Amino acid sequence: NEEYVRKPEWLKIKLNTNKNYTGLKKMMREKNLHTVCEEARCPNIHECWAVRKTATFMILGRVCTRGCRFCAVQTGLPTEIDWQEPERVAESVEIMGLRHAVVTAVARDDLKDGGAGVFAETVKAIHERNPGTTVEVLPSDMKGDYESLHTLMDAKPDIFNHNIETVRRLTPTVRSKATYDRSLMLLKRVKEIAPDVPTKSSIMVGLGETKEEIIEAMDDLLEHNVDILTIGQYLQPTRNHLKVERYYEPREFAELRKIAFQKGFQHCQAGPLVRSSYHADEQVSEAAKA
Ligand code: SF4
Ligand code: SF4
Repeated sequence: NEEYVRKPEWLKIKLNTNKNYTGLKKMMREKNLHTVCEEARCPNIHECWAVRKTATFMILGRVCTRGCRFCAVQTGLPTEIDWQEPERVAESVEIMGLRHAVVTAVARDDLKDGGAGVFAETVKAIHERNPGTTVEVLPSDMKGDYESLHTLMDAKPDIFNHNIETVRRLTPTVRSKATYDRSLMLLKRVKEIAPDVPTKSSIMVGLGETKEEIIEAMDDLLEHNVDILTIGQYLQPTRNHLKVERYYEPREFAELRKIAFQKGFQHCQAGPLVRSSYHADEQVSEAAKA
């Protein structure tokens, strides 16, 4: 189909999906846990799980109340609320020997607290069982509810990550129920509650944005006191999702990274395979130094 832009060579990487993780994957199933690493068939799984000792858990079920047009998670009305899940995540972090654990969740707009209670308990349980492990949270906008945000921040995450995902103009087409400004305000609020906790956000490129719009997004994030930025290539999960308008070249990512540092971000990862949680372990230590 001529509408589809050809995938460039640098994205034709071999997936390390079968490499030595049978045991860990079995454990995830036994504990009824889900990781973004597996669900998104992330190409970085070997580097993250085995070398960097980091993984991204997706809690609060596998069904999301929202339907963002870039995301492969199933949309519907979730029923699950499992207060034992935090402990099982903490046990898995211990078994995997993780140095850095990222916890994300589907958007639970059906719950009054947006799932902040279970989220907070997960952070606490990981810290209790694994005192040396840093915990990064990657929540939805929790409907912009600051009480929920406080619940989560009271659990003392080491890093707060919330993705604006795309530039201002494309937000209504790309994201569902979220607004650009609400996300920015959430990030700013985190800094007011906990000035020492590094904040982080991510954008996907290749959805039709211009370079000027990316730079404007950088300025907006900095104005809302965001410390860390990640920029990665959008890849279409299925044909029913938004199509890729353009594949950025590695040198373009390098240029965006340079601009991000010049503008004042403390840390920036940018590259074709960069994901929100990629090299997150480094970002915590860098931010702590700053
Ligand atoms: Fe998992 Fe993120 Fe690493 Fe991918 S980049 S394997 S999702 S921790
Ligand atoms: Fe996917 Fe998150 Fe959007 Fe839900 S809110 S559809 S999990 S990106």
